[in-house]
Amino acid sequence: MTDAASMPKPIATSFSREFWEGMGRGELRIQRCAGCKLLRHPPGPMCPHCHSLDWDTIVSSGRGHVFSFVVVHHPPVPPFSYPNAIALIELDEGTRLVSNLVGIDPADVAIGLRVRVEFTRVEDDLVLPLFRPETS
Ligand SMILES: [Zn+2]
Repeated sequence: MTDAASMPKPIATSFSREFWEGMGRGELRIQRCAGCKLLRHPPGPMCPHCHSLDWDTIVSSGRGHVFSFVVVHHPPVPPFSYPNAIALIELDEGTRLVSNLVGIDPADVAIGLRVRVEFTRVEDDLVLPLFRPETS
């Protein structure tokens, strides 16, 4: 990532605060419905399955696989690096989130690739849950 522009910053809501605060502790916190136990991401006020407004969070193992991905080549938008491998990660716990892949040539990314979260401080005040291929 370049220094030309700063990364867009997340806005912590009452629903996403635990997710973002977990970054600093090395925890990937995923929202869980207190009614039907469905995991969901991004965090929101209501369960899309049973419509319960009650929820808590779990700490994910941070392990999963690439469910889908795209490699962005153009147009280059600072501060991101290109080609930019953006993946939909399916966590082993069963929900999905969008993130960047690191430690792999974008040409080698494949659906099903096993990955693990890597909490990466991309700026002084921003830690992101990026994903790196598992080595074994
Ligand atoms: Zn529910």
